[in-house]
Amino acid sequence: MRRAKILATLGPASNTNEIIEQMMGAGLNAVRINMSHGTQEEHAATIKKVKQAAKKLDRPVAILVDLSGPKIRTGHLQDAKPVTLEAGAEFVITSRDIQGSVKEVSTNYKEIPKLVKKDDKILLDDGAIELKVTKVTKTDVTTTVVNGGTLSERKGINLPNTKLPIPSLTEKDRKDLDWAMTQDVDYIALSFVRQGSDCREVRDIIKKLNTRKWGRPLLVAKIEKAEAMENLDDIIANTDGVMVARGDLGVETSPELVPVYQKRIIERAVMNDKFVITATQMLQSMIESPRPTRAEASDVANAVWDGTDAVMLSAETAAGEYPVESVATMKRIIDTAETVQTTKLKRPFKFTEAPTGRTSQALCKAAAYCAREIKTEKVAVFTESGLMARRLSSVRSGLSTFALTNTDEVRNQLALIWGVEPLCHEAGTTTEAMLKDGEKTLIKAKTVEKGETIVMMAGRLSGLGLSSSVIVWTIGENVPRR
Ligand code: PGA
Ligand code: MN
Repeated sequence: MRRAKILATLGPASNTNEIIEQMMGAGLNAVRINMSHGTQEEHAATIKKVKQAAKKLDRPVAILVDLSGPKIRTGHLQDAKPVTLEAGAEFVITSRDIQGSVKEVSTNYKEIPKLVKKDDKILLDDGAIELKVTKVTKTDVTTTVVNGGTLSERKGINLPNTKLPIPSLTEKDRKDLDWAMTQDVDYIALSFVRQGSDCREVRDIIKKLNTRKWGRPLLVAKIEKAEAMENLDDIIANTDGVMVARGDLGVETSPELVPVYQKRIIERAVMNDKFVITATQMLQSMIESPRPTRAEASDVANAVWDGTDAVMLSAETAAGEYPVESVATMKRIIDTAETVQTTKLKRPFKFTEAPTGRTSQALCKAAAYCAREIKTEKVAVFTESGLMARRLSSVRSGLSTFALTNTDEVRNQLALIWGVEPLCHEAGTTTEAMLKDGEKTLIKAKTVEKGETIVMMAGRLSGLGLSSSVIVWTIGENVPRR
């Protein structure tokens, strides 16, 4: 059973029923809908296809909607023709509404002249082009090109180390969020998060608009700004999970800091019982090639060893030539990495950590300890909202974790979570019925055999006597062991 999960971005290269089904067959666990491109109508059609494919193959698949956030971009160019900026040349970024040229370009963010000063660094197109500010007027930022390159339309502008007074949730994001909450999706990602309060605001909207009986869409805070690294603990405390958004993070800070931050973010997230996705350029060369570079294979494996819940594919599956092969390659790398993932490798396994005082931690550690003592590799957790399954995952015990849940929504959502195999079962009306139904579901899914002893656990289940329990259970015996 694979522990780390695969999240792939859907786009023109992959948003057909056929490719989605093939990617699921290759090991896909979750999809990302990227609101930076396309319309709500197009995305709704894609979401429908994902749900159809999941139903057809009877597999849980989580859907994540990624809100674009305040990405600053360059404006249009004359005849939409790319221009080449030469090192040493003068180049102006302006709030005036113009068709850009090799001399100047407009921007969607009109406040730029108010925020930058002489000698500041400005990066275009994910850092490919570097500018240095020489003069600022009310409308124009004049710069010298430090590193030249080709600039096409609507490319990203990054102002590293400038604290921007723009909220993470833009007007467009608000509309997209309202829409996403009508689409029965499992995760909402917020881009360019700066601090915990950005997350609180969005989580409150999600809670208000939530229509699910059990659980709700979970919030993913994308860590991609230097400011977010400064406020990491505050952000983690106010979100459900995080993304190591290495693309913008590497531009807003610097490439050599990305591996340092990746390890820190994963460790802080898992320690605080939050899930974490590692994203961007994981198999970048597979946009054009059917095989990954050795460096990419190592990168995916190292993210797994760092303890990430999921690894993400972006352009590889959204716009690349080999979307299915990219998923299959990722699966092989993870499977292989996990065969050597022994306790010798440093993992955020929490037995040795200081006590947290949290009941959920106590129960999850008890279940993991219990499993070790009776020498089983398996634990089943009853979970209505999915929360207890996520908590159990965050202990990173390495046990095969079967989450028994009542709804398809929670089953789909848990597909993204490390080490969890989510299963749907009929919720019984008594504790006994519940345990037996759970057992039946486990047998049907071919996860356990008669006579096998496993650990069952539950936090609190509404309406049932089953609360805060860790139970040793032999399949077919019908009573908990003592
Ligand atoms: P993006 O986020 O692909 O939406 O920019 C991920 C990243 O910045 O790495
Ligand atoms: Mn980004």
